[in-house]
Amino acid sequence: MPLDTAVSAELFERARAVTPGGVNSPVRAFNAVGGTPRFIRSAAGAWLTDHDGNEYVDLICSWGPMLLGHAHPEVLAAVQAAVARGTSYGTPTEPEVELAEEIVARTPVERVRFVSSGTEATMSAIRLARGFTGRDVVVKFAGCYHGHVDPLLASAGSGLATFAVPGTPGVPASSTELTLVLPYNDRAAVEKVFAEHGDRIACLVTEAAPGNMGVVPPEPGFNAFLAETCTRHGALFVSDEVMTGFRASRQGQWGLDGAVEGWRPDLVTFGKVMGGGFPAAAFGGRADVMGHLAPEGPVYQAGTLSGNPIATTAGLTTLRLATDEVYDHVGRAADVIKAAAAEALGAAGVPHTVQSTGTMFSVFLTEGPVRDFEDASRTSAAGYAAFFHAMLERHVYLPPSAYEAWFLSSAHDDRAVATVLDALPHAARAAA
Ligand code: PLP
Repeated sequence: MPLDTAVSAELFERARAVTPGGVNSPVRAFNAVGGTPRFIRSAAGAWLTDHDGNEYVDLICSWGPMLLGHAHPEVLAAVQAAVARGTSYGTPTEPEVELAEEIVARTPVERVRFVSSGTEATMSAIRLARGFTGRDVVVKFAGCYHGHVDPLLASAGSGLATFAVPGTPGVPASSTELTLVLPYNDRAAVEKVFAEHGDRIACLVTEAAPGNMGVVPPEPGFNAFLAETCTRHGALFVSDEVMTGFRASRQGQWGLDGAVEGWRPDLVTFGKVMGGGFPAAAFGGRADVMGHLAPEGPVYQAGTLSGNPIATTAGLTTLRLATDEVYDHVGRAADVIKAAAAEALGAAGVPHTVQSTGTMFSVFLTEGPVRDFEDASRTSAAGYAAFFHAMLERHVYLPPSAYEAWFLSSAHDDRAVATVLDALPHAARAAA
């Protein structure tokens, strides 16, 4: 018996009448996998409950933020106490200072500025890099997503080391003509653009470990090479840890490579986990670079709700609770699910590869290794759609796109993991 989703279907109809595609962020609409998105009424721990009363193990975790699971009692209590003190003052507050101190203590950044979304964080970081260096060109990698920032919504031009073209209508060519797009993990391409344009490059921005084309880990030493290349050419290395920050490990992706290899990015962007489920994000980095921001320096940047006391309280409480034990738990649950997914797909004869960085992972329906966006694009979209729906019918809510990380939380206990393991062989056969 298929799940009853009548109420979700009705809500989706109403939503489509008043909102483009019926959703407030495109991938939620199931366009890539077909079908009706589930309208979620509530969530607790590892589970989502929709308006029809169906329960699902949540492997989206709000696209990363919910590291501690939903409705964590201590986070809720801190937020409720904060709400009772008023919701926004437009003045400096103590939780902002405490959250900034926590981020500075855990990551390579020396100073930090809060914003409300990851998009704002990367937009502001590249403005600051341009203002600091007095240069205009930005380098990025195909398949890395940095939010819907005009110059970063760019596709590669017709050849390597040519300037980019807009990745969507509405972005003028003038916004991307200072962006260079390169294949990920390709040192030769990086060498070439820096040799040709090095004195014009303000910054190279990269996901610290890409998760937006599925998880494509940097090859060993790749981030160190990027940092060194930027430094040699007087450009800034901007590491986007919006997804990986406080998620891939306690210190983000940097904890897995930079802290071990002994290098630091010049600027880092954060979001998702650091907001504890609220709209909070940040960018930070070298003290001298951050000192160029208004009101200390000349580069303008601002926000009405930046550092909002509720959001910073949720983020601070989440980070304080995100101990080594939390990452160990999430990592163990991820290992069990990765192994079971590979086994089920192997048994069903479905080409696949499972890739991870720290506690973050994805399942590609293509032979690996997946090193860049071109490799990732070979994943079977039709196979994933069948896999996704078979999991959903068995109460597991995967990301409704083949190019995403699967997110777990410290609330994913044995029962939640067992539900995923039970569903995987059925889904693998559906994908075959
Ligand atoms: N950077 C990365 C690596 C992301 O994964 C995202 C969102 O998924 C963003 C930036 C944009 O963040 P937001 O959706 O909060 O604007």
